Amino acid sequence: MAFNIYYYESNVECKCCKKHFTTYKVRPNRYKIIEEQSDFMPVYEGLNPLLYEVAVCPHCGYAYHKSMSRTYGPFMLLIEELYIKELQKPMNICQERTIDDAITSFKLAYLVARAAMEESLLMANFALKIAWLYRLKNEQESEKRYLFAARDFYSKSFASNQEGGERIQFLHAELSLRLGDITEAKRGFSRLIADKHVSPKYRKLARTRWENYRYDEQSTTVNECEGERTDYVAISKKN
Ligand SMILES: [Zn+2]
Repeated sequence: MAFNIYYYESNVECKCCKKHFTTYKVRPNRYKIIEEQSDFMPVYEGLNPLLYEVAVCPHCGYAYHKSMSRTYGPFMLLIEELYIKELQKPMNICQERTIDDAITSFKLAYLVARAAMEESLLMANFALKIAWLYRLKNEQESEKRYLFAARDFYSKSFASNQEGGERIQFLHAELSLRLGDITEAKRGFSRLIADKHVSPKYRKLARTRWENYRYDEQSTTVNECEGERTDYVAISKKN
């Protein structure tokens, strides 16, 4: 490719079929995080590097993300048996990607990870990223479906994961809140706030998030009551 100011081409050897291919990556100075949403979704100014995180081999269809660890020996045999053989036709999404292409790339990575029986935490992170991509498209039903899946996987990874446990607990509570499961959200945030072993960072994040939610809820209720009162006044005047 000719020099492009936004992307560079990364040369990749496929871990599955061993063939070489090039795939676009966003140049590091071509994006900037301007905001982080409550479930840690980064909002970018300029290009979104999330779209290019998964490399998909155009020869065999194997999808690779840097967080994957089961990418050798017996796991590759499982991937070939359970994923590659099932794949209809490998696609070429190695150049400029739409959000839909990125969703496809993460769904393929998700299938590879499932075939290789990767850890629940990794599956949870993929599901969350797919949900974020649907959020960018404003497709709320699909976003919810993947938030549910992510929450399930985070739940499973509770037991096995000490490292990063606070982040997982926070995300579990946060996703519960987004999915309308208030009881579970309250339980999760309260646990983080009350536990003295939790770092100040996550205790503060949990407290702020829960207080903001409660505040928003209260103002919604007040507005609804005021609305009712106005209706009542209107009716009384009519009479
Ligand atoms: Zn390949």
